[in-house]
Formats: sequence, C-alpha cells, structure tokens
Amino acid sequence: MIKQVSAVGALLLSLAASTSHAEEYLTGIEWQEPPIITPGEKPSDAPSDAVVLFDGKDLSAWNGAETWKVEDGAMVVGKNMIESKETFGDCQLHIEWSAPTPPVGESQGRGNSGVFFGPYELQVLDSYGNKTYFDGQAASIYKQRPPMANAMRPPGEWNVYDVVWTAPRFKEDGALESPAFITVIHNGVVVQNHFELLGNTPFSDPPSYNKHDLKQPIRLQDHGNPVRFRNIWVRETKPAVGKRTREPFRRDGDKETPITAAK
Ligand code: MG
Repeated sequence: MIKQVSAVGALLLSLAASTSHAEEYLTGIEWQEPPIITPGEKPSDAPSDAVVLFDGKDLSAWNGAETWKVEDGAMVVGKNMIESKETFGDCQLHIEWSAPTPPVGESQGRGNSGVFFGPYELQVLDSYGNKTYFDGQAASIYKQRPPMANAMRPPGEWNVYDVVWTAPRFKEDGALESPAFITVIHNGVVVQNHFELLGNTPFSDPPSYNKHDLKQPIRLQDHGNPVRFRNIWVRETKPAVGKRTREPFRRDGDKETPITAAK
C-alpha cells in the first residue's frame, strides 16, 4: 500500500515538475469568441439560434404547402414538393419523419419522400424490410451513395435525420469551385460521413453541378406517399473566425521562441 501511494505521489510530482518547466506552444492566431447559444433541453430540441421550419402547428414556413396537412403535430405529404421560404447555405438540419403504416407498395413505391438541399436529395424511404436499389434506399444520396448502414425504424415509428450540409460554391463563369459535402446521422447512427456529392440527384440523368445561389431552400418531396414529418429545424453553420497576428511560438515565462516552419 505504501509503495502504491508513493508511486502515485512520484507521478504527481513529476507531472507538476514537467508542467512548470514546459514551454507552451502558441498558435499566433487570435480567435474570436464562439457565439454563445442555449442548446435544446434534449438534443432533438431546437437550440436558441435555430430557424424552426415546423413545430407541429402550421406550415407557414413553407411555400407550396396548400395540399399538405397538419395532423397530430405532424405534417403529411400532399400534392407537390414544398420548399422552405427561408434559404440556407452551410447548415445543420434536424428533421424527423415517419413512413405510412400499414406499409403500402414496395421498393421505391413505399414511403418515398426526400429531403432536398436545393437540387440535392437525401432520400426518405420506408427501407424497413423493403428492398430497393441500395443507392436509392433511406439515407442514400439518391443515385450516388448508399448509406453505410440501414438504421431504419419500422413504419409508424419516428426516424430522425441529423444532417451537416456544406453547400457547393461556383465561380462567376459557372464552373464548380468546391463541391457539396454531407454528413448524415440516422437515428443516432452515422450513415454518410462527409460524402462529396457528384452533383444533383435526378432520376433520369447522371449527376451534374449547375450554378446556383449559395443559399437554397430546404425542399420536401411528394412521391405520392403520405409520409409524415415533424420537428424540423435548421442552423446556419459558420466557421470559427480567427486572424493570424504572428507566427507560431513557444513561451516559457517571459521567454518567447519562434518556431521555424517545417521545411
Ligand atoms: Mg425520394
């Protein structure tokens, strides 16, 4: 016992010694303080800086939703694709959806809808015991990439997508400057990990990038199935802001030593 205590004591002493004599590495970048937000009570609740697109009450945040209905706090797909009145560039999206029960149809005909960032579809489909082409099942980037796992809940239960979206950038002449990227978490499971989109996601054509404004509406697809959605919110994401004020250096008390850049 005594031996153990003294071993711990020695370790603490050596840590203290190494801390007091260590030179600290400093980046030379002055970072702005990140914005302070209030998170939701649960991770699925909208944080204070989110734009709420649907809170269970009405469809006022959407264009084209005349035939979509609100029932029991959920919105039900109607006769055409709807799009958010507000537009978004890089963002985080939370959306919950539920496939019709009892299930009707098969393959692409069962519980099909879609979450679109402008012209790019993240597939919504009842993929619970329902085979279809893999790059068209739930949480696929349509006709580009299947999800890394099928994390579906059964029809009637609620599925959750948490999405990190990086919008593509275009040059003045229409050429692609940087592609879109998407990360998708489906019911707590990472199913797309910073996937680089090849372009848009049409049914009949290969993907292509066609110049558009950075900010696009979020769109929800009508594919003829009464899929339900609820608790939809979006946060714009902005990189941390910093400015280099000097080259990296080490500091030990008052002594500062520049770090020579690696050759
Ligand atoms: Mg679809």
